[in-house]
Amino acid sequence: MTTDTATTSPAASPAPPTFMYEELLAAITDPGGREILDPATGELVGRVHESTVEDLEQALARARAKQPEWAAVPDAERCALLQRAADAVEANAPALAELLSREQGKPVQNGPNALFEVGGAVAWLRATASLPLEPETIVDDESGHAVLHYDPIGVVGAISPWNWPMMISVWQIAPALRMGNTVVAKPSEYTPLSVLGLVHVLNQVLPEGLVTAVAGGREVGAALSQHAGVDKLMFTGSTATGKAIMRSAADTLTRLTLELGGNDAGIVLPDADPQAIAEGLFWGAFINTGQTCAALKRLYVHEDVYDAVCEALTEVAAAMPMGQGRDERNVLGPLQNRAQYEIVADLVEKARSGGGRVLIGGDPDESLPGHFYPTTLVADLDDDNPLVTEEQFGPALPIVKYSSVDDAVRMANRLDVGLGASVWSSDVAKAREVAARIQAGTVWINKHGAVDPRMPFGGIKSSGHGVEFGVEGLKALGVPKVISV
Ligand code: NAD
Repeated sequence: MTTDTATTSPAASPAPPTFMYEELLAAITDPGGREILDPATGELVGRVHESTVEDLEQALARARAKQPEWAAVPDAERCALLQRAADAVEANAPALAELLSREQGKPVQNGPNALFEVGGAVAWLRATASLPLEPETIVDDESGHAVLHYDPIGVVGAISPWNWPMMISVWQIAPALRMGNTVVAKPSEYTPLSVLGLVHVLNQVLPEGLVTAVAGGREVGAALSQHAGVDKLMFTGSTATGKAIMRSAADTLTRLTLELGGNDAGIVLPDADPQAIAEGLFWGAFINTGQTCAALKRLYVHEDVYDAVCEALTEVAAAMPMGQGRDERNVLGPLQNRAQYEIVADLVEKARSGGGRVLIGGDPDESLPGHFYPTTLVADLDDDNPLVTEEQFGPALPIVKYSSVDDAVRMANRLDVGLGASVWSSDVAKAREVAARIQAGTVWINKHGAVDPRMPFGGIKSSGHGVEFGVEGLKALGVPKVISV
C-alpha cells in the first residue's frame, strides 16, 4: 500500500490533542460493557458499550439533522478539515496502533501491521482530500450545454469487518465526508474499540455530529442496512453478509457499495526468478497473517520453476516470526478470533487429507493462549481442494502446479469471485498479456494487494459491487445531477 501523502493542514490550525493509550482507552470503554479480549493472550483489553437499535435510531437522527449544514460547507473547507483529521490520526498514531494491536492482534511495529494501518488511514484521509472533482461539461455545442455535478447523498451507513478495522473505516468515512455526507459507522463486533478509538480521535477536530460510531452486533448492522434513514451503505465484509444486505436494502432502494470476499489467484510464469519473487509472494499472501480481502489466497506455479518457488517461499516463511504484537521481533500475529482459527485449521486438514504436501506449518501449538495458527504452505494440491476453492482468510497458502499458461488462467478464473489477482514474471510485457485475461477488479504484476488511494479498487463477480478510492470512489458517495440548458 502506498503511504503517499499530500499537503498538510494550514500552519495556523492548533495542534490536535494527543492521547496516551490509557487515556484513549478510558475515553471509549464502558466499565459495565462487554469484554473485549486480546486474541494473542486472552487478556482483557477493555469493555465496549453494546449499542442497541434505539441508539442507532438516535445516531441516524443526529446525522440527518447535521447533514444539510455540512453539505453547505464549501468543498475546499471540507478538504481542509479532512487534512486536519489526518493530522489528528497521525498525532495519535502510537495510541491508536497499540489499541489496534491489542484488539486485532497484529504486531504494532514491524512489517505491514498496526502502525502501517494507522499510517494508511492518514494517507487515505490526505489523498481523499486531494482528489480533483470538478463539474464535468458533458455537452457544449449548438444543441445546448449540460454539466454533470455530484451532489451529497445524505446519511451514509458504514459497516466494517475486523481485519483492518481502522483503515477500512477511513476508506468509508473519508470519501463520504468529502462529498458532503454525514456518517454512522458500525464496526465489527470483534473490533469495536479500534473504530471507537479512531472516531474519537477524528471527532477532536471534526465538527460535532458528522461521524458517529455505533458499536453493536449483527442485529445493529441489519437494522442499519434496512433503515429508511440511510441513503447509502458502504459495506465491507463477507459475501454472505453482502447478499443479506442487498436483500435488506431492497425495500428502501438504499444505494450500496459492497466490498466482499475474495480468493485471489497468483500465477507464476515459467520465466520468473524464484529467489527474486519469494518475499513479494510471501507478503502478498501473509500480510496481516492472511486476514486480508485482497491477499494472495491460491498460488499457481509453472512446473519449470515449481520446486524452486516452493523452496524459496518456504525459506522466507521460516524466517518470519509470529507472536504477541507488542514483542518487537514479531511480524505476524494470531487469528483475530476462534471462529476464523477453526476455518483455517479445518481447511488445512482437508488439504492434508486431499494429498497436499505440507512444506511448513500445519501443526498448531494448542497449548498457546491465543488464536495462533502457524504460517502454513501446502504444495501439490488439486485445484478442487477446499483450501484452494474456499476463502481461508488466514495464514495457509495452497500451491498448485501447472504446465500450460492457458490452464493456469482457466483455474484462476473458474471461481465465482474476482477481487484481485497477480502475475509474476521477469517479462512485464508477457505478464500484461496474461493479466488482461484474468477476471478480477485489480491484477498486479510482480506484487499482490498493493492498494493505492488514487486507484479505483473493487471486486467483480461475488467479490462486490462498485469501487472505492480515486475519483471513481468519490463519485460513489455522491448522486449525479445534470444541469442542462
Ligand atoms: P462479516 O460479513 O461477518 O461482518 C462484516 C460486518 O457486517 C460486521 O460489522 C458485522 O457485524 C456486520 N453484519 C453481520 N451481519 C449483518 C447483516 N445481516 N446486516 C448488516 N451487517 C451485518 O465479515 P468479517 O468476517 O468481519 O470480514 C471478513 C470478510 O470480509 C472476508 O470475506 C473478507 O474477504 C471480506 N473483506 C473484504 C474486503 C474488500 O475490500 N473487498 C476487505 C476486507 C474484508
